[in-house]
Amino acid sequence: MESITPIAQRRGSLAGSSLAAMVRRMLAVVLAVALAVPMLPARVHAQGGIQFVRDAEIEELLREYTEPILRAAGVGGGGLTIYLVPSKEFNAFVIDGRRIFVNVGTLMQSETPNEVIGVLAHEIGHIAGGHLAGLRNELRAAAAITIVQLILAGAAAAAGSGQAAGAIIAGGQQIAQRSLLSYRRAQEQAADRSAINYLNATHQSGKGMVRTFERFADQQLFSSRYVDPYAVSHPMARDRVAALDGLARQSPYYDTVDPPRLQLRHDLMRAKVAAYVDHPNAVKRRYPKASDSLAALYAHTIIRMRSSDYKGAIAGIDQLLKAMPDYAYFWEMKGEILTSAGRPRDAVAPLRKAVSLAPRDTALRVALGKAYVVSGDKGLQGDAIKELARVTNEQRDHAEAQRYLARAYGAVGRIPEANLASAEAALASGDYELAKQFAARTKQGAKTGTPVWLRAQDILQYRPPGR
Ligand SMILES: [Zn+2]
Repeated sequence: MESITPIAQRRGSLAGSSLAAMVRRMLAVVLAVALAVPMLPARVHAQGGIQFVRDAEIEELLREYTEPILRAAGVGGGGLTIYLVPSKEFNAFVIDGRRIFVNVGTLMQSETPNEVIGVLAHEIGHIAGGHLAGLRNELRAAAAITIVQLILAGAAAAAGSGQAAGAIIAGGQQIAQRSLLSYRRAQEQAADRSAINYLNATHQSGKGMVRTFERFADQQLFSSRYVDPYAVSHPMARDRVAALDGLARQSPYYDTVDPPRLQLRHDLMRAKVAAYVDHPNAVKRRYPKASDSLAALYAHTIIRMRSSDYKGAIAGIDQLLKAMPDYAYFWEMKGEILTSAGRPRDAVAPLRKAVSLAPRDTALRVALGKAYVVSGDKGLQGDAIKELARVTNEQRDHAEAQRYLARAYGAVGRIPEANLASAEAALASGDYELAKQFAARTKQGAKTGTPVWLRAQDILQYRPPGR
């Protein structure tokens, strides 16, 4: 078992440049800022939106953790989006069964899938129990994201503009969190009971949840200042944790452990997060030798890539692929290493393999589409269009896919479509003026009445909410 950094120390390092670096390295996106802008206080507005960490491997794993629990709870269903928040603090919350927010710190601190699954089960217990009625009443559906932005503002500021700004906004963050995501004791007990029911229904143990909550109860006992935000919004009295422990022990699945395959993926995920977030020396302390485990090799491979040792990184990923040739995300990592090494054309084949192994993963498809585009190979632009349009046909507001789709259309001279994709990208990012400029250009080049022309017309007539 590895040692856990004292809370005070952890908090101090939160705002460090490593997190900013992670946001840069892993692809960061700005979430539909425009939706919320009219209602945001100035400081959050100035922030320009919340940045989330995007990572196909982690998002897919968390989806696998969450979906069975959501089914057991009868909440939501399909189209689950995971938002990874670039903060080292422990936090996770669910606002509606379709959107789950998890801090990367939660993943770093949880040693087993069961710990993360238990916490998510508890969150889903709050959803199923209707404990978020206050949140729903405060703001209507379109503006729900505003609340999320307020809650997450602290994390974004910490990642973007240093500790001071982070601390200032964290004050506002806590206020929002206290009023909107604070639960009463009776609700905590109800959520605990529901969580145990979901875990029983899915044949999983409640041990991980108890373990996490025990940690928080200890924190609250010894310190009132340095508690994770999660503990603040969920009162963690010792007697409540004891009651939960009793419930968990009654389950026939109490001693059930996570399947080894899932534990391995969890270990790989934690190695990846550490390799992106922590200083290489800290990573090497945690994973002394690359040969110790697949997770250690993964961590070393990523830090080699990050320090431009591409030869070493390729050797590492090839060794990992030998051990797990059907694991899509190792192929994705090979593509990423080759792209970082300035060999985007060579990244195409591994990314194709990744998509073939996980055809439902949209993020991998976008990565492949991007690789086609940045390869500069004219012969691949048709493939780029096919891959990216598959994504944008389902998710018109996928700004990144639209941007690369625009480049692919541009490269083959399909200018009206290129302009339309640029208009969609601008629309999805909330830049309505730019969207209308591109829509106007699209109309000039397209034949009247064609689908492209009609969509451009729609964008020109679009009225943003709240204006
Ligand atoms: Zn709770």
